[in-house]
Amino acid sequence: MVPFVDLKKQYQDLRAEIDGAIQAVIRDTAFISGKYAQQFEEEFAQFIGIENCISCANGTDSLEIILKVLGIGPGDEVIVPANTWISTSECVSTVGAKPVFVDNDPVTYTINPALIEAKITASTRAIIPVHLYGCPADMDPILDIARRHELYVIEDCAQSHGATYKGRVTGTMGIAGSFSFYPGKNLGAYGDAGAIVTHDEGIARTCRMMANHGRLGKHDHALEGRNSRMDGIQAAILSAKLPYLAGWTDLRIRNAQHYQSLLFGTGFTLPVVPEGYRHVFHLYVVQVDQREACQQYLKEKGIETGIHYPIALPLLQAYAHNGYKSSQFPAAYAGMSRILSLPMYAELTHSQIESVVQELKSFS
Ligand SMILES: *Cc1c(COP(=O)(O)O)cnc(C)c1O
Repeated sequence: MVPFVDLKKQYQDLRAEIDGAIQAVIRDTAFISGKYAQQFEEEFAQFIGIENCISCANGTDSLEIILKVLGIGPGDEVIVPANTWISTSECVSTVGAKPVFVDNDPVTYTINPALIEAKITASTRAIIPVHLYGCPADMDPILDIARRHELYVIEDCAQSHGATYKGRVTGTMGIAGSFSFYPGKNLGAYGDAGAIVTHDEGIARTCRMMANHGRLGKHDHALEGRNSRMDGIQAAILSAKLPYLAGWTDLRIRNAQHYQSLLFGTGFTLPVVPEGYRHVFHLYVVQVDQREACQQYLKEKGIETGIHYPIALPLLQAYAHNGYKSSQFPAAYAGMSRILSLPMYAELTHSQIESVVQELKSFS
C-alpha cells in the first residue's frame, strides 16, 4: 500500500513538538493572530529571505488580498496560467477583474512566457505565474514583459516553498508572493492557513490591514478590509514544522531522483528540471498512455495517485460562458488526459518508490 500523501507519518515523528505547540496556544489563549502568528511571520520571512510576511487565513485569500491592495478590480484583466489550481483565477474574478488564460509550456507545465504578450491589452494590470508542482515558472522573460508593459507580477507560491530560480527564491521576484499552508502543501498546517510575502513596506502594511478588517489599532479602521487572520494554533504548528522544511525538501528531491533513475528510458514522460532551477517536488507528475486504465491498475495494486489537474481551467464549467475551445490551449489540453501524479512526500521510502515503478512498468 502506497498512499498518495501520508500526513500521519510526519505527525508521529513530530508528535511531542506539535502537541506542545497546540497546548501552548491554548494555555496562552492566543487563538487568533497574536503572538504565535507574529512569530511564524518572522520565521517564515527569514526562511524566504524577505522583509515582510503577513499571515492570513488561507492561500486563496492571500492572492485576493494582494490583488485588492494593488487596486485591481472591475475593468481590469489579469493573466493567469490555464493549467493550475482554480484559486489562481478565482481570486481575479472575486475582486471583479477578468482572468485571461495563457497556455503552459509543454515540458515544465508552467505558464509559457512566449504566449503572454499576445494576451496583453490596455486593461491588463498583472500576471500571476504559478510555480506549479514545485517547479519555478520561467521568471526572467515574465519579469521582462511585466517591466515593458508596466504590469505587476504576483507569484503564486502555494506549491513552491523554498524553490529557487537562478538563485532567487520563489516569492521574492515579483511585487508580492502568495503562500498556502493547506495540510498537503510542502509546509502544511492542521487546517487552512496562508501568507503574503513582499519587499514593499507600503503593500505589506495595507495587506496587514486588509486581512484584519482594515484595522490600524483596536477600533481604528482606516479602510474596509475583511476577516482573514491565521489561527494561533495553525501558526504554532507551522513554527514547529518550519525547521524541518529544508530537510523534507531535500528528501522530496532525493525521492524524485530515485523515481527518475528507475523510470529513465521506460517511455514515460518524466519531469524536467531546467538548468538553474531548484524544483521542490510538491508533486511528481509523469505522463502515461491510457491514463485512466493506468490509474485504475495502480489503485488495484494499492498505489494511490492523483491528477493535477484533470480539466484545464478555461475548459471548466465555471468558465463555460467564455466559450473557450481546447484548441486555444493545446499544451494544457494535451497534458490533461496524460498526466499522473505519483506518490510524493518526504517520508516516502525507497522500497515504496520501487514498488510504484514496478507496477507502472508492469502496466505498460
Ligand atoms: C493550494 C493552492 C492555492 C490556494 O491555497 P488554499 O490555502 O487552499 O486557499 C492557490 N494556488 C495554488 C496553485 C494552489 O495549489
